[in-house]
Amino acid sequence: MVEVRLGPPQHRAVRAGGAVPDGVVAELDQAGHAGAQLATRVPADRARRVIVLRATTHQIAGVGLAVVTATALDATATSAAVLVAGAWLGSLLPDADRAGSRIYRARRLERRAWPLRIVGRLARLPLRALILLGHRGLTHSLLATAAVTAAAFALASTVVPALAHEVAAGILIGYLAHVAADACTPGGVPLLAPLSKRRRHLLPRPARIPTGSLRELAVAAALTGGTVAVTLLLAG
Ligand SMILES: [Zn+2]
Repeated sequence: MVEVRLGPPQHRAVRAGGAVPDGVVAELDQAGHAGAQLATRVPADRARRVIVLRATTHQIAGVGLAVVTATALDATATSAAVLVAGAWLGSLLPDADRAGSRIYRARRLERRAWPLRIVGRLARLPLRALILLGHRGLTHSLLATAAVTAAAFALASTVVPALAHEVAAGILIGYLAHVAADACTPGGVPLLAPLSKRRRHLLPRPARIPTGSLRELAVAAALTGGTVAVTLLLAG
């Protein structure tokens, strides 16, 4: 259990179950994996909105980058679809270190067919070991990005050898986009873990984007618009 000390009055309000000021949501980020425990103390709907927005921004960034890459490379429909699907999965993987993250939620297809539900649960089982590492730790490093990409390539080489490069490239794009997006938040990421625990940032302090903030919503909208614009430009 990580102790998060809440000092200022607005923090004490959160502890007492009161309204959650934006600054405290920002601190959910800054607290790193301690934030997961702090999140249990804020009202459920606000904490859920933060988590949903974070996961959505990650997916927009990863999938958008994959769409632009596929268009720029003039990829075939199959290659493009695999690249985008890989990026979607890759953008979810780093947060497998947090119980309750989107990757652990059963998809609609799984909920409808019990054999798929069992396959889904079995496939997610090894990922649960990552929860022991703590949120936004080793899984958000360059080493993890390389290891996951290599593992995806090795697995795809045996299952779908013809599309192994697309699978690995998609996972790499999605995973990197996720780590880069988290590096834009006040909490940053330990990019060089396990060599260094220091949290790295992509943006200067005033420009960092608190998770769940209006600024993040604006970035998500800009990413979506930018992806559509660049894709149309490349395709035309
Ligand atoms: Zn993350």
